[in-house]
Amino acid sequence: MAHPTLTLRPRLAFIAGRFVDDAEVVLQWLGPHPTVASVRLGVGGPREDLLLSPAFCNAHSHLEYRGLLDAELPETYWPWIRELTRLKAEQRLQDVREHTRLAARENGLTGVGLIGEHSDRPFAGEALREQGIQGRIFQEVITFLESQSPQEKLDALLLRAENQREAFGGPVHLSPHAPYTVDPMTLAWLGSLGEPVSIHVAETPMEDEWLMRGLGAIEDLYTRFGVPSVRHPAGVVGYLAAKGLLRPGAQWVHGCAMDPALAPSLAEAGVSIAHCPTSNRRLGCPDAPVRAWLDAGVAVGLGLDSAASGGPVDMFALMRAALETAERRGESLSVVEVWNMATTMGAASLGYRGWEIAKGATLPLIAVTGVTEPGKALRAAPQDVAWLAPNGVS
Ligand SMILES: [Zn+2]
Repeated sequence: MAHPTLTLRPRLAFIAGRFVDDAEVVLQWLGPHPTVASVRLGVGGPREDLLLSPAFCNAHSHLEYRGLLDAELPETYWPWIRELTRLKAEQRLQDVREHTRLAARENGLTGVGLIGEHSDRPFAGEALREQGIQGRIFQEVITFLESQSPQEKLDALLLRAENQREAFGGPVHLSPHAPYTVDPMTLAWLGSLGEPVSIHVAETPMEDEWLMRGLGAIEDLYTRFGVPSVRHPAGVVGYLAAKGLLRPGAQWVHGCAMDPALAPSLAEAGVSIAHCPTSNRRLGCPDAPVRAWLDAGVAVGLGLDSAASGGPVDMFALMRAALETAERRGESLSVVEVWNMATTMGAASLGYRGWEIAKGATLPLIAVTGVTEPGKALRAAPQDVAWLAPNGVS
């Protein structure tokens, strides 16, 4: 039986890190996702008013907080995470399961084909599989309260990761939530595994304040719970390096308070970054030094983070927020660069190479209708996105 094929001449296509206006792309379906049979540039003739692109990569997500989209939460990080933790404990697991499935559906409907998912509760695997979204699940490890004897909790998390793996049918990795919510021994153990790992890092300046000076809200938390505190003279980056988490396969999330001068050492170590500008802005975090990361060669992806801080699923709003963040720092960032972070580079930041329109590549592709020039690409809306299917766009 012949495999279905489709020949497209889009007004714009995102190919090899740029927008081109003269491409002819032939796709063939050998399985659920199209394979790029050929790409020809410099082809004239009539064109369809759409932008053809690799599917979006949502490089950092927490589907399970979808139920908190409209919750009244504080506007700064520390009170926000305290309140989030309190509300979380009140949620019924059956509701969280439905929230997780809803958030996965919203990602799937708006062009997200790849995700870096932080999951504390057990439902991300089945939710992503239902939507056919690929990527990695990072099963969150939090051992703050169990810091003296974390093994029992780790055993339970290993089992949860195994169950998620089975439900997802994709990779699931134990991952530390943040430097201050995981005990030092467990951090070092997770660092030593050598597997892909994802961790919230320097979302605020509080981590350095705590590690370098023993001050601030994190230190207060340790004191209040009687948990032995931790010091590191080189701050959070030095601390994570000492724990084996400055290495290839490590995705650092946020990095808002990180010194831009450290960007070359991140690049050299092979660490990638998930930049979450909508969430960072909502929680009053510093504007992340994205320009420095990109210039150093760090793979940067864009993450919607959770509904509780990042708002509704909207990759276009996320890309616009990335531009605004750079602007506030007085730094340049182009539409092409943010599109790359939202697609090909974002995928690379999760270890998925070749997430691009190139001969022989197999990947989910999207069409953004109505985009006729690169300047309009970020003005589109989630409902303008359609998936490429054998009969065209669907
Ligand atoms: Zn997060």
